[in-house]
Amino acid sequence: MDFEQFFKDQLRRLREENRYRVFADLERQAGRFPYALWREEAHGPAREVVVWCSNDYLGMGQHPAVLDAMRGSLMLNGAGAGGTRNISGTSHHHVLLEHALAEWHGKEAALLFTSGYISNETSLATLAKHLTNAVIYSDADNHASIISGIRNSRCEYRIFRHNDVEHLRELLAATEAERPKIVVFESVYSMDGDIAPLSAICDVAEEFGALTYLDEVHAVGLYGEHGAGIAERDGVADRITVIEGTMGKAFGLLGGYIAASAGLIDFVRSFAPGFIFTTSLPPMIAAGGLASLRVLRGAADLRARHQDRVRYLRRLLAGVGLPVMPNASHIVPVWVGDSSVCKAISDRLLMDYGIYVQPINYPTVPRGSERLRFTPSPFHSAEMIEKLVSALYECWHDRSFALDPTGTSSLPPSRNVLARSSAYEAVARN
Ligand SMILES: *Cc1c(COP(=O)(O)O)cnc(C)c1O
Repeated sequence: MDFEQFFKDQLRRLREENRYRVFADLERQAGRFPYALWREEAHGPAREVVVWCSNDYLGMGQHPAVLDAMRGSLMLNGAGAGGTRNISGTSHHHVLLEHALAEWHGKEAALLFTSGYISNETSLATLAKHLTNAVIYSDADNHASIISGIRNSRCEYRIFRHNDVEHLRELLAATEAERPKIVVFESVYSMDGDIAPLSAICDVAEEFGALTYLDEVHAVGLYGEHGAGIAERDGVADRITVIEGTMGKAFGLLGGYIAASAGLIDFVRSFAPGFIFTTSLPPMIAAGGLASLRVLRGAADLRARHQDRVRYLRRLLAGVGLPVMPNASHIVPVWVGDSSVCKAISDRLLMDYGIYVQPINYPTVPRGSERLRFTPSPFHSAEMIEKLVSALYECWHDRSFALDPTGTSSLPPSRNVLARSSAYEAVARN
């Protein structure tokens, strides 16, 4: 077989569909968030741009307390963990951080993983595989890491329509009462920014004795009095069996975790290959995570300012008639609906305005629902927001994009008519 030809053909297909991924070469500037240096070519000149699509939602990746903790641990403990958790790789910082995470979520215990992706994949696969004859109920919009975990478990699963509690109930009711059931969902959905009805989902899950697994990756640090997520905000944390989070987003670092009962955590710790057979996070990451958590706990002001920036951006976008997708979170998606136009607008914003926002295309979102996803932080000034909106407005009405030549922007068709299963398809093919 001609392997090189095969790779080339596959990549050509991606390019033809306008979904070949081009990474922006960025140098983030600690102390200058959300500015970064961007290079078009590796050895070319650098240019300062404003980053509008970072998941470091609160700029914690540059917080002095986090940097101090990491610097301190780096000098004291060195660079890497030196082993898996079982074989010399458990540092004191890991232990302290797991205690703090558990307490934050009101759970008995917590367990760290090298990423949020791994925490979902290996925890779900391990739980579902070992619970004999289990059935998983998974929201249609769940993240690729969740879908991959479900598939790896080789367990029977059913997909319920996005945030549709009645559909979930129907599916649960249609299953034999004695089979173990796991309901898997997210709180804030990353690409639409909508929020799940946690309490109603808990009601149904409890009615059928199902275990609940909640991905709070886009909510930890951002919602609730102490920033512990939507489950804290809605007062339902004690009704969720497993809360999964990441340190890669609002924490500004890297690493994932689950928080649950002591028994469940001990079980995953003892049986999950993605936890057992890999080198643990460097101690300095755990130290940074602990420092970040301490700040986030008391960061009500930062959270309020974050939501204030979000409201301002939304108001200006809607004010000039741009199709901002409505939701109740901090994620501001602007609907484009065409992959080449989405990429062209993103390129133009970067080249002509020094504004960086990555186009979001299939399979991250369904085909025909391509969008620009903005994530304003407390550090995006009013002036930056105003500049973004006027730049986007100019691009939008530029006829060369053949977008919206009449000047009337429209919101997407009802999301229920879209094919929602893009991520499931994508994972299934891999
Ligand atoms: C980003 C993301 C993850 C994975 O977290 P990482 O720490 O980045 O690996 C899991 N779930 C959702 C919903 C995500 O958006």
